[in-house]
Amino acid sequence: MKLAKLNGRPEIFYSIQGEGKSMGKPAIFVRTSLCNLHCVWCDTDYTWNWEKTPFKHVNDNKAGYSKYKKEEWIVEIDADEVLSKIKEHPCKRVILTGGEPLMQQKELTILAQLLHDDGYFIEVETNGTLKPAPDFDSIINQYNVSPKLSNSDNSVQLREKEDVYKFFSKSDKSSFKFVIDDPKDLDEVTNLISKYNIHPSDVYLMPQGTNGAALNQKQQWLIEICKKHGYNYTDRLHIHIYGDKRGV
Ligand code: SF4
Repeated sequence: MKLAKLNGRPEIFYSIQGEGKSMGKPAIFVRTSLCNLHCVWCDTDYTWNWEKTPFKHVNDNKAGYSKYKKEEWIVEIDADEVLSKIKEHPCKRVILTGGEPLMQQKELTILAQLLHDDGYFIEVETNGTLKPAPDFDSIINQYNVSPKLSNSDNSVQLREKEDVYKFFSKSDKSSFKFVIDDPKDLDEVTNLISKYNIHPSDVYLMPQGTNGAALNQKQQWLIEICKKHGYNYTDRLHIHIYGDKRGV
């Protein structure tokens, strides 16, 4: 499978889940490379923002920022090797994240089966555009679905796949995390929730931001919205603890 490469090694690390339903739980993260979307504020753009692609990013005008050489940011590794790296850590919760992990579902099914057989709890973080196959779905414990809104700069055709949203909204393993940049994003969230019949208690609103100050500023009004609609608020705990760093 193709994992993100960090400091010359596959990006597998032991940390704390910083967002959503399992926020605060210790977990081992396996970061897959490749994504089928191109969110303009993505903080893991080293999984998809390759040289010679046309996609925009908020850091485009930042000094020193440039698109990534694909071959330098991907490492190929098999499921047994990933499992042995996971086993270096004293934790039975694994989070398959990305990029978009479901782009590599065939390879991840082999890994997930090994983890499942060994008693691991497996979370999958997904943008909700690719449907899990039955053999993969049967061994996954939790989906952290993060549907993208227009603030991501992806077209609606790319970001909203009706049959896939229907699959996740019917699965009792799913929770839905929305990245909110501005109060006006809420109209899109309420439309999606009503269209796909998602229960408010499965909804997590998260402020967009890659530093503590930006998160805290949005937290003020976002919590009031959560109170009003019965949604959950989720912070980005890892940003407060570690800052916008990779591999932590
Ligand atoms: S779906 Fe996730 S990984 Fe892909 S571009 Fe958007 S934020 Fe980044």
